[in-house]
Amino acid sequence: MKKKITIAIDGFAACGKSTLAKDLAKALGYTFIDTGAMYRAVAFYCLEHQLISEDGILNTEQIDAALPLISIELSSDQKVWLNQKDVTQEIRTPKVAGIVSKIASIKAVRIKLVEQQQAMGSQGGIVMDGRDIASVVFPKAELKLFVRASDEVRTQRRLAELQAKGESMSEADVLANLKSRDLQDSTREESPLIQVPEAIVLDTSSHTRESQLEWALEIANQLLEEKE
Ligand code: C5P
Repeated sequence: MKKKITIAIDGFAACGKSTLAKDLAKALGYTFIDTGAMYRAVAFYCLEHQLISEDGILNTEQIDAALPLISIELSSDQKVWLNQKDVTQEIRTPKVAGIVSKIASIKAVRIKLVEQQQAMGSQGGIVMDGRDIASVVFPKAELKLFVRASDEVRTQRRLAELQAKGESMSEADVLANLKSRDLQDSTREESPLIQVPEAIVLDTSSHTRESQLEWALEIANQLLEEKE
């Protein structure tokens, strides 16, 4: 049987990480794990349970205490389940996007989710995307990719996603949210977003969905051949 490897994909918000990870996993017959969806599910729980004030102040003590009550599952049809409830759509709202990076900076939240992510990928054969996958979750991943895209491309992609769901947000607000999440994600104390030195960088700005998959697949297949 062909050896299965672990593929870690990190990068800033809306660079196309999840699309690439999903396509790569499908092409290789691997499992795709979107760790951002897990942080979003915790953020959604905190909003639903009033653990965040109107002006965005977190009640960290209450959030820590609530963590054992939060169960998150990702099903193979890409649905996100929070305490057995399908929250796939709810976690993609601007409201969740506005607070998720604050939630993701809480140490206890990261400990819980990283533990779950490591268990999900313990057998290899996964493509996992996020912010700390190559640095913290799977530092021994055989393939590490760091994805980038221009601000213009990222903004247009997020706007199109929102429009497809019938939500409206100005271009300026979309970019401001992406920038503020990037800043928070890369400057937080707990496992900040970094580009590990061994990561291979992909700028998706000038790629099509097909050409970025082709690029990544070639690298993955080469690695798999070397391992045989
Ligand atoms: O990937 P996505 O943009 O959906 O992630 C939402 C947020 O979750 C990020 O902005 C970041 O704050 C947090 N996150 C994280 N670590 C990960 C994945 C996501 O801190 N591995």
